Amino acid sequence: MTETLVVVGGSLAGLRAVEAVRGDGWEGAVVLVGAEEHLPYDRPPLSKGYLSAEECPDPTYRDEDRITRELGVDLVLGTAASALDLDARTVTVGERTVDYDALVLATGSYARSLPGTDGLAGVFTVRTLDDARALRGALREGTPKLTVVGGGFIGSELASVGRALDLDVTVIERGPTLLAPAIGTSMGQALTRLHERYGTRVLTGVQVDEVLGDHRVRAVRLSDGREIETDILIAGVGAAPATGWLEGSGLTVDDGVVADATLAAAPRVHVAGDIARWPNPLFDDVLDGPMRLQHWTTAAEQGARAARNAVAPSQTRPYETVPYFWSDWYASRIQFAGISAADGHDVGVEVVAGDNTDGGPFTALYRANDRVIGALAVDMRAEVMKYRRLISQRATWNAALELAEARSSDRSVRPRL
Ligand SMILES: Cc1cc2nc3c(=O)[nH]c(=O)nc-3n(C[C@H](O)[C@H](O)[C@H](O)COP(=O)(O)OP(=O)(O)OC[C@H]3O[C@@H](n4cnc5c(N)ncnc54)[C@H](O)[C@@H]3O)c2cc1C
Repeated sequence: MTETLVVVGGSLAGLRAVEAVRGDGWEGAVVLVGAEEHLPYDRPPLSKGYLSAEECPDPTYRDEDRITRELGVDLVLGTAASALDLDARTVTVGERTVDYDALVLATGSYARSLPGTDGLAGVFTVRTLDDARALRGALREGTPKLTVVGGGFIGSELASVGRALDLDVTVIERGPTLLAPAIGTSMGQALTRLHERYGTRVLTGVQVDEVLGDHRVRAVRLSDGREIETDILIAGVGAAPATGWLEGSGLTVDDGVVADATLAAAPRVHVAGDIARWPNPLFDDVLDGPMRLQHWTTAAEQGARAARNAVAPSQTRPYETVPYFWSDWYASRIQFAGISAADGHDVGVEVVAGDNTDGGPFTALYRANDRVIGALAVDMRAEVMKYRRLISQRATWNAALELAEARSSDRSVRPRL
């Protein structure tokens, strides 16, 4: 009898799930459920070229015909799944009850908003295509002053877009430096210099106490008493896993859906992308528990692995990866592979190529015990993948330094500006 694979979440991980099983020749029925009206689309451009390009680009991956006809998918868009019944093997989508034999959960994240800004014009988050459309329009209404709350990767990209449009831009970060939790303090400081180089004002160690304005944002009041006037306020304060609909389903939901190494959260129920919290076997010597990543590459890979494991329960395979992400600020490409922190171990960081004192180009490596665990590169595009391979082999710190030495004597290693 033909089986049915249901994929909940019509974005990157969900689409890759469908593509993987169809690519393998799996002939069962496939239902793809997405809460948004849009066809699956690519999110990284939404904080980059989608906003800055003169012509508005189309970020969708495939047109409808290619999904429904070529991939043979029953596409259910515009309605969120609201309940999962593990015993009955059903998912509730609006009025419809969808039966599954195999299930992939890939509902991603939603953007956190700033408290007290509901209904206030001029305040934005950037998670969805609709968010980006609205912001794209607002950025072009005159020459608005732009304030970004949160100096993470997406907040920093949005600041770069503002400067590319020649706007007055301020970034407000409550931590003592940008990105310290993600890449460590010294490297966070190095990247802050990129903002300074391009004329973005960065205020650290302060938070927004109050957003001022009646119907439209006018200013923000900071914890040190300063008021920053603004026409556009972007909340770049992170994202949370979209798992509310799974509460009470019997799955373990704890900052994501907790899964095993094969991404299984229950028999024949696998998770992928931003909602997946799973033990990454590659780092079991330096991390005590499971990890949850919010990176494009992981979501794509997990989508494929989750679906393959869900439809072929006798052949499941674990998913392991060296996390990888990139971010584009101004004219620079920032890349990170691996992890930057370890449980119960001190992490050392060393710049092995270039110079970080002026924001790059440079490459830095991260060490825990005798192992290389991470690599950060600014405008040295070929470097990170070489270290990523080493990290996947659990290479020693000395092996990484030897590679760095070999790379620095190789004339082909040139910073790419
Ligand atoms: C603006 C932006 C820029 C980014 N830039 C980069 C980058 O430069 N590099 C990088 O590595 N990563 C980047 N990322 C991260 C990357 O895009 C995400 O990790 C990736 O999109 C996660 O894919 P996903 O399929 O797990 O989740 P999502 O892309 O969040 O998709 C989940 C989908 O599920 C839907 N959904 C939610 N709840 C339900 C429900 N109950 N029923 C049905 N559907 C539901 C949502 O509407 C959404 O369409 C960026 C993300 C954003 C938002």
